[in-house]
Amino acid sequence: MAIATVNPYTGETERTFEPHDDAEVERRIASAQAGFEALRSTTFAQRAQWMRRAAELLEGDVDALARLITIEMGRPIKGARAEVLKSAKGMRYYADNAETFLAPEPLSDPSAVGASAAGTRYAPIGVVLAVMPWNYPLWQVLRFAAPALMAGNAGLLKHASNVPQSALYLDTLFERAGFPVGAFRTLLIPASGVERVLRDPRVKAATLTGSEPAGRSLASIAGSEVKHVVLELGGSDPFVVMPSADIEKASSVAVTARNQNNGQSCIAAKRFIVHTDVYEEFVEKFRAKVAALTVGDPLEESTDVGPVATESGRDELAEQVEDAVSKGATLVTGGRIPDRAGWFYEPTVLADITPDMRLYLEEAFGPVASVYRVADREEALRIANGTTFGLSSSVWTNDPEEEEWFIQNLDAGAVFVNGMTASYPELPFGGVKDSGVGRELAAAGIREFCNLKTVWKG
Ligand code: NDP
Repeated sequence: MAIATVNPYTGETERTFEPHDDAEVERRIASAQAGFEALRSTTFAQRAQWMRRAAELLEGDVDALARLITIEMGRPIKGARAEVLKSAKGMRYYADNAETFLAPEPLSDPSAVGASAAGTRYAPIGVVLAVMPWNYPLWQVLRFAAPALMAGNAGLLKHASNVPQSALYLDTLFERAGFPVGAFRTLLIPASGVERVLRDPRVKAATLTGSEPAGRSLASIAGSEVKHVVLELGGSDPFVVMPSADIEKASSVAVTARNQNNGQSCIAAKRFIVHTDVYEEFVEKFRAKVAALTVGDPLEESTDVGPVATESGRDELAEQVEDAVSKGATLVTGGRIPDRAGWFYEPTVLADITPDMRLYLEEAFGPVASVYRVADREEALRIANGTTFGLSSSVWTNDPEEEEWFIQNLDAGAVFVNGMTASYPELPFGGVKDSGVGRELAAAGIREFCNLKTVWKG
């Protein structure tokens, strides 16, 4: 894939970039290593000051950045602006909390290990490679970069090839805020260039958010190098609606949970699993609200759903829907590529999904919802847990016993009750099964890329 900004609303190539050659990649890895060496001896207070300054710079650029996100990947402008502000919030969160999260933990009774003092400290590990996707071009990167830099690590970013201008903005952000030169560096390289960087001895670990094949490839290279990885891969999150739920609210939240960011979120609700007693009511409300979404120019404030980010992504979605319909699925609404420029796909609801259809197991990365009718909670759970993914989940019920039962039995990295899944700096984020390993955000996220150093003093 060329490294280029191709506007999904028009299909036009706006800017192309030459990938960095081997010499430039080498210079940037060396710069990141120098950045790490400078950063590791700084204090939390100093790094927090720079991080807060970086958050201010981001906020100062909010309008230009939101426009850039929208042009590079089609996110409606309201959401793009919210993404910039959320990123700044996440940066301040780590500026405020990193020192507490990484405080030394002394053993209360060191004599038990024959020591006068003993315990653990969190030390930075060095340069960490981040392979990032285009769907939240700033937030995905900054939720890695903020904890990594606050811990004293340096970051090397290989961003998705379709968001190069976002990647280049991030290349200079931290230096502008006062961080040592090289503390954060962007590499303009194709996916095929990742292996060489990951095998470099100066690169100590990697994190990847993206598709399962990309994650498997990165993890196998990291495994052969004995390097730690965090993987945040796809999801096909269930959204379970039980009879005691507030159906009006559930159906409204379902529309946002599926269609925000044009349906391209790993934690979007993708499979709506509805108890038969409330099935007709839920599906009708859901259909009407999906059909009422404003689809159009993502730069317009009134737009709810814009184009899918890439032509291939849009075509993949259309093929998944065609496959389901050809095998007997019912189109409740949508299901077409509209006759207009850009990579649009109609917000779609499909019912009567069966296990022979691709959508039963695959992630739909766009505005396509699958609805399932179930007889009881056991069947709901079987379908919810019936994919290879396990990122997050959402359950709608007002029965406390049922709520607890789902929390215990859903195989997912998170369970949201009577609400949609979202990422918060304060809560750990990550999946089980093929959705990934490790956690981002909260205390768990900053500790992933630290050396938990045991200290024993005689
Ligand atoms: P990819 O996984 O291909 O891209 C994500 C990042 O990984 C990009 O930076 C990409 O670089 C890089 N990459 C791709 N292949 C490799 C590899 N073998 N080794 C190292 N790095 C690699 O996602 P796509 O954009 O192609 O989207 C495909 C599907 O992935 C989506 O339909 C969706 O299902 C899933 N996805 C999930 C996301 C999530 O948030 N969990 C985000 C994005 C996608 P480059 O752009 O240069 O190819």
